[in-house]
Amino acid sequence: MKYESTRGSKNYQSSTKAIIRGIAEDKGLYVPVSIPKLPLTIDEMKGMTYQQIAYEVIHAYFDEYTDEEMKKCICGAYDDKFEAEEIAPLTKAGGAYFLELYHGKTAAFKDMALSLLPYLMTTACRKEGEKDKICILAATSGDTGKAALEGFANVEGTEIIVFYPQNGVSQVQERQMVSQEGDNTHVFAIKGNFDDAQTGVKKIFADEVTGKKLADMGIKLSSANSINIGRLVAQVAYYVYSYVKLVERGALKTGEAMNVVVPTGNFGNILAAYMAGKMGMPLGKLICASNENKVLTDFLNTGVYDIRRDFHLTNSPSMDILISSNLERLIYLLSGRDGKAVSEWMESLDKDKVYEVSPQVKEGLKAFYGGFCTQEETLDTMKTMWKEGYLIDTHTAVAYKVYRDYVKETGDETPTVIASTASAYKFAESAAKAIGLDEGKVKVLSGATAEPTGFDYVKALEKETGVKVPYGLKNLEQRPVLHTGVCGKEDMTESVIKALSK
Ligand SMILES: *Cc1c(COP(=O)(O)O)cnc(C)c1O
Repeated sequence: MKYESTRGSKNYQSSTKAIIRGIAEDKGLYVPVSIPKLPLTIDEMKGMTYQQIAYEVIHAYFDEYTDEEMKKCICGAYDDKFEAEEIAPLTKAGGAYFLELYHGKTAAFKDMALSLLPYLMTTACRKEGEKDKICILAATSGDTGKAALEGFANVEGTEIIVFYPQNGVSQVQERQMVSQEGDNTHVFAIKGNFDDAQTGVKKIFADEVTGKKLADMGIKLSSANSINIGRLVAQVAYYVYSYVKLVERGALKTGEAMNVVVPTGNFGNILAAYMAGKMGMPLGKLICASNENKVLTDFLNTGVYDIRRDFHLTNSPSMDILISSNLERLIYLLSGRDGKAVSEWMESLDKDKVYEVSPQVKEGLKAFYGGFCTQEETLDTMKTMWKEGYLIDTHTAVAYKVYRDYVKETGDETPTVIASTASAYKFAESAAKAIGLDEGKVKVLSGATAEPTGFDYVKALEKETGVKVPYGLKNLEQRPVLHTGVCGKEDMTESVIKALSK
């Protein structure tokens, strides 16, 4: 299977090269030249474990890896560092199935792919005879950063540098990152938002001078964001898995469509669901849920992508994004792989902050339903679900609320999977507020004497709900801060060079 760029330069790469590079030379994103079909039928996958299904799905894209190599990667990634034996359990609640993707080390769905990516990357380097050190650059809205740090910490032949928006992540998320151990890990807060961090990282990738400087140091840059095809493909697996499990449970008949709802930021997770559909998993509607930063809702309704609007810091911070990178892959596919058109749209986004897709792409967008949820509605939804005895996080609540809107509007009763993307404990303050714990109650429950910290909210939430704190979030408060770097959004290149020169 070869990979080509969304910007149309016909420079085909192997999957191993595409994974190592992360982003194409013409700044486009890698997509497979064709989306492979599922190698097994749904019925043949019945009874399989997560690892077995992931192997089938991922190997179909990355066929340069031998059977043996791919098995090693999968087994290394999906082992007992996941607290749930099924890896991604499905819980029925509120008339839908919640696909819990947050039982890995860092308690968010990013672990699903970032547990695997280091294995794919180091195997690719070995196969390609790569002599350089690989430096992973990641921009994070809060969850990718920690998951990538955990995945790559102390992995030989790699360095990892993470940029997160100062004041743009929860206290729990921040402490998770700045307490990261490992000699090859580097973390910086940037004075800006996620889009600034992501734009800055993309600029470093495209900057030939920096590339040359790093090459002289024996270093190659790569990406752990969902712009890396290795990460995206790993995410396709859990949608196929969820379909098979619903068939096993009798909730779906083989061949019957399944709707999928995804709380969306960078458009990676929902694109993975789209790709699962193209592989042959019977897919109904794809429901794209946004928070108050609802660029995608508007885009799906109009075909106009317009970021000339205010940016909101919300209680679902991992979705506080205006420029959704992976949308580029979708419009490339929907345009009939028209790299020239995609280049023009991306240029227009860069220059004029807006673009409008062609009628052909607009037609393709009808596979999606777009909706959004305000911060207040997010808390209300969490409260309603908790009354049913199910604790969900703010991002998952955004998804569930938009799902309810969709059902109200359409009456569609197709069995539906909701991507449940994080543990409520990562956003403990919002969760506590949602279930009616005011500051006074939090103080009593946690034993805090001053204004409660994010960590006090975790304690109070556990006392009140009895839901276990994920092991990756335990005793976070006691973990020492090891990374204190702060940099301006103009100084990211300098920070990278400095970090790597040590
Ligand atoms: C990253 C993230 C999202 C958004 O996923 P994308 O693939 O960027 O669309 C949603 N929820 C949580 C908790 C996340 O960490």
